[in-house]
Amino acid sequence: MVRAVYEIEIGGKIYTIPFINGGSAGYIVEEAEEKNEPAAYIVPLSSGLLEVMIDLTTTEFALTKETQEVLRKLVRELHKKALSNDNEHVPRNELWFEVNSDWVSFSIPNSLVDEAVANVAKIALNPENWRKITVLRCPVCGRRVRETETDLIGIFPDDENIQILFCPEFDQRFRGQHVVAFKWDGEWKQPSYFYHNPERDGLIEVKKGSYDNVTLYLLYLEAISGDNVNFKRPNLEWMRAKILWKNGEPVGYYAYSVDAHKYPTLHQIFVRKKFRRQGHATMMLNDFLNSFPGTVLIEDPNEATQNLLVKLSLARRVDRGIESTGRIMFLPGGI
Ligand SMILES: [Zn+2]
Repeated sequence: MVRAVYEIEIGGKIYTIPFINGGSAGYIVEEAEEKNEPAAYIVPLSSGLLEVMIDLTTTEFALTKETQEVLRKLVRELHKKALSNDNEHVPRNELWFEVNSDWVSFSIPNSLVDEAVANVAKIALNPENWRKITVLRCPVCGRRVRETETDLIGIFPDDENIQILFCPEFDQRFRGQHVVAFKWDGEWKQPSYFYHNPERDGLIEVKKGSYDNVTLYLLYLEAISGDNVNFKRPNLEWMRAKILWKNGEPVGYYAYSVDAHKYPTLHQIFVRKKFRRQGHATMMLNDFLNSFPGTVLIEDPNEATQNLLVKLSLARRVDRGIESTGRIMFLPGGI
């Protein structure tokens, strides 16, 4: 049976709600996304019910809380009606519908679909019942991510007041998901915001919960996604860190601790790819050595750091790696 497409007029604009089979939803969603309009469609289910879907994820809007409440009430009433019509396919519990800020979906018998479209769709599709939200593109993979996707929001490890918006994409290189944005001063700021700051120059100590703390976290992610896969996150509960800035851009960082081990310890040095071979690592190592005259520990130095220690005569090459020339001691990794 070929069914007519529903047409709903809201504020002079005509919204069409086609009947489709499941496979063509992708096309409808893509088209809606291009126009920044909601995708609305009805899918016949094998149970004989019709699934009504109104999807706002294709827009920069979400349903207001009040509207969600109104819609829940309406959908519950429809559910009751469907049950009293003794439709054997209608599930008894209320799990058959979902109303959240991003979409409304429910399945309904044929006999009630006109009423459902006239009431529920008309409210959900009305821009007066929406609020503007932030939709961001993942800087790594380009996926659209909505701030309303609460299961993608995490807490910044060094400060619970800072939220992180993640991308749904899982990526082994980052030991998890891509970072899309941080909630900073009440606004979602993307990683690039923490990589450009004309007020920063030279080596700057990172304070917990600060702008630089976010930069440090991003530099760490950059490090582990490249050739420093063994780095652990610089944990400011017990570590300290300094970021080297040049013309308002972060060059790299070094992480150290003062009291965690017998001697002051250098845990990591990282220089971003485009700033390498310009003496920045030497400069950071010297800053650490000058801050702590006397014996210091170097944690599990990687190849680059080993070369640096040899260059500065703090270590010499031996058969398997390097050994100290006196001032430094090595701390095995994984501590
Ligand atoms: Zn992504």
